[in-house]
Amino acid sequence: MTRGFLDVTEAWNGESVVTAFDSATGAWIFVALHDTRLGPAAGGTRMASYPAPVDGLIDAMRLAEGMTWKWAGVGVRFGGGKAVIAIPDDLGDEARAGLVDRYAAHLVSLRGAFQTGVDMGTTPEDMARIGAISGYAVGLVDGKPGDPGPYTARGVLAGIRAALEHRFGEANFGGRAVLVQGLGDVGFPLAGLLAEAGATLHLTDLREEAARRAQTRFGGTVIPADGMWEVDADVYAPCAVGATLNPDTIPRLRCGIVAGSANNQLLSDADAERLRARGILYAPDYVINAGGAVAFSAIHRGERDETRLRARVDEIGSSLREMFEEAAGAGESPLHAARRRARRFLDAHGGPPPGAG
Ligand code: NAD
Repeated sequence: MTRGFLDVTEAWNGESVVTAFDSATGAWIFVALHDTRLGPAAGGTRMASYPAPVDGLIDAMRLAEGMTWKWAGVGVRFGGGKAVIAIPDDLGDEARAGLVDRYAAHLVSLRGAFQTGVDMGTTPEDMARIGAISGYAVGLVDGKPGDPGPYTARGVLAGIRAALEHRFGEANFGGRAVLVQGLGDVGFPLAGLLAEAGATLHLTDLREEAARRAQTRFGGTVIPADGMWEVDADVYAPCAVGATLNPDTIPRLRCGIVAGSANNQLLSDADAERLRARGILYAPDYVINAGGAVAFSAIHRGERDETRLRARVDEIGSSLREMFEEAAGAGESPLHAARRRARRFLDAHGGPPPGAG
């Protein structure tokens, strides 16, 4: 039996979900606010078709909780929230444009309780439109959509540096080999930063031309997508899809560190322990890939100084360093240390949970 809206909402550990039905298109809008103790909720807006609207609601709730941990994990004072617009399969361009406008008006009615950015199915242009109508889009630089990729790449580089130091005793890239999977918005600039830092690159992408383009710019070798598990590297940097770390692939890894931008790298939390059992240091994805979010939240609050923005992103390295040490001391995966650190930040800066006391 499929679960209904009410059951799903009642079972959730978040604060509230604001739901709207867009009768003009048949789309459902779910704005899930998981934990707003640190500040107004901020998270992406995902637009997708789901088997049933309730699956969109479940996705919004799951992703909103992820944002709570992400913001608290990197010490940014935003609450965890996410919006899902569950659309019909056959939504045309014109209908979609109207829906985006009405979604923006919906955000106006929430009066800043939720601020949003790009996620799967929405574009920077959508955000420019939503920002113009509502004022509640994050990731706009002077009204125009910004590109988070280079900031995210910078955060990943800082994270890899911290991991090298922890795992091998020095943060030096010279002679270290890094396998970058996915040379897109994050992987491409990351490859550039790694090459500049002196790393040896192995580049792989489902679209081989993307890997070749990076090779032409930054050097290194191109690895066919199905051959990447045969490559020896110090670092595997997943910058493409999720769930590449699972019970089938972990035994095949030939690296000492996993540190990349992809979201949801682990198929399940148990895979973090599998990595630890193999002596592979794992940089929790939602911390190491937060560079874009960190930079854009600072830009949103008026910061424009590039040096300060970069320094803020580089702090991801120090956060990870502390997590690695705490995890090593406790004999557990950095995944657990990251969660504990986020909880500590929430408790210290967010006050008691809503409804407590
Ligand atoms: P992108 O779409 O620009 O690039 C992804 C690249 O991966 C593409 O070149 C694609 O061809 C390749 N790819 C897809 N599936 C692959 C596979 N199975 N094997 C090898 N290559 C594959 O995406 P992006 O913005 O660079 O994001 C990469 C990852 O990082 C995603 O998981 C994203 O959710 C995450 N992330 C991105 C940002 C950001 O600032 N863009 C921030 C946080 C997290």
